[in-house]
Amino acid sequence: VNTHTKPDISREKSAALYEKSKKYFPGGVNSPVRAFKSVYGTPLFIQKGDGCFIWDADDNQFIDFCASWGPLILGHNHAKIREKVAEVMQNGMSFGAPTALENELAELIIKNNRFVEKIRFTSSGTEAVMSAIRLARGYTGRDKIVKFEGCYHGHSDSLLVKAGSGLVTFGETSSAGVPKAFAEETIVIGLNDKTALTQVFEQFKDQIAAVIIEGIPANNGLLIQDKEYIEFLREICSTNGTLLIFDEVITGFRVGFEGAAAYYGITPDIVTYGKIIGGGLPVGMYGASAEIMGHISPDGGVYQAGTLSGNPVAMAAGIATLTELSKSGFYKDLNAKAQEFVESIQRFASARNYKFKVFTVGSVFWFAFIDKDKIQTAEDIDPASMEKFKVLHRELLNRGVYLGPSGYEVGFVSAAHSKIELEKAKRAIFEALDVVF
Ligand code: PLP
Repeated sequence: VNTHTKPDISREKSAALYEKSKKYFPGGVNSPVRAFKSVYGTPLFIQKGDGCFIWDADDNQFIDFCASWGPLILGHNHAKIREKVAEVMQNGMSFGAPTALENELAELIIKNNRFVEKIRFTSSGTEAVMSAIRLARGYTGRDKIVKFEGCYHGHSDSLLVKAGSGLVTFGETSSAGVPKAFAEETIVIGLNDKTALTQVFEQFKDQIAAVIIEGIPANNGLLIQDKEYIEFLREICSTNGTLLIFDEVITGFRVGFEGAAAYYGITPDIVTYGKIIGGGLPVGMYGASAEIMGHISPDGGVYQAGTLSGNPVAMAAGIATLTELSKSGFYKDLNAKAQEFVESIQRFASARNYKFKVFTVGSVFWFAFIDKDKIQTAEDIDPASMEKFKVLHRELLNRGVYLGPSGYEVGFVSAAHSKIELEKAKRAIFEALDVVF
């Protein structure tokens, strides 16, 4: 067992950039988790990426498993995406008018998806989900929505509400600045709990516009739900005239063409996508049947718009990405490679009796310092276990492996991770685990 920590990587240039960025941005960053608050050291400023690698400002090289939080399923700086974006940019950046490129990306999405007949592009996942909620409210004429503890759906007001203890919690905002009146329309319950769901529908019959769930909850650890529970959820929504929204911003085109909906074999009413469909540029999307989408302006009365929605450069990145994903065997190869990687890490940890479990689906994985074979609710995660993640994170950076800087975040294997790099990453992870334990 190797218990030797490695010397810390140099962060001189990153630290200097951080000093400067703190003058300009709250916490020195433009999205909170980037600030490295729950891991060691100052945030790393990244200067470039190529394939499965990124380099920070101090020229440290890392095998990257954060992948910009999911979009980069083909790795960094993919030639096909770069070329398509460069080609489209020759003709200008934005017109605020329809382009053929929007049709092209929509076609790639719709032809590969049984669940959507019409879509609308946005510029982020947050906007997509916010608009999907408005659509559900406009369509049903109801105000309340149900979300699950531990599911993240972007940072719009109605969705920044989480449960306290108890079966159903009202109005507990997890963010300051959310009006109480908004929070009261969001009901938060625990995942994988049929009783809670049944009680909510008994109590608020005819008032619930939508239930929203992350296809496979992946923002609070990886909380893989039972198929039977998702089927129950589908049924209770249908029975009550409530729309089921599958937020597939992470899982869409990640666990396969039809995302988590196909994984469970159920049909949601509205789906939201983001991340991968933009190939690293800002794109989100929501979609549903033509009948439901008919309620969106200008056809219907639910308003939603965007200066840069369907931006041609962003569409180009999405088209190039989905074209690669359409190639025969793409998901089979990626998922097989990822599963081999995580299984050998699990075997290593289990052989040493480490209290460590890798939860995984497709090319998504979550390292948990937990002694359970199944974990399906946010409550099941012991916050104290995050101390171990902190050490793992530092030891991995020192060995050239980059994970997102939070133990609640999942990691992603991309098509650009070759077997050689995965072997190297594995060895680093084994050594780091030895240090942690
Ligand atoms: N929904 C889910 C499931 C997400 O994971 C995220 C972001 O991580 C969002 C919505 C929000 O997307 P964006 O960050 O593009 O606004």
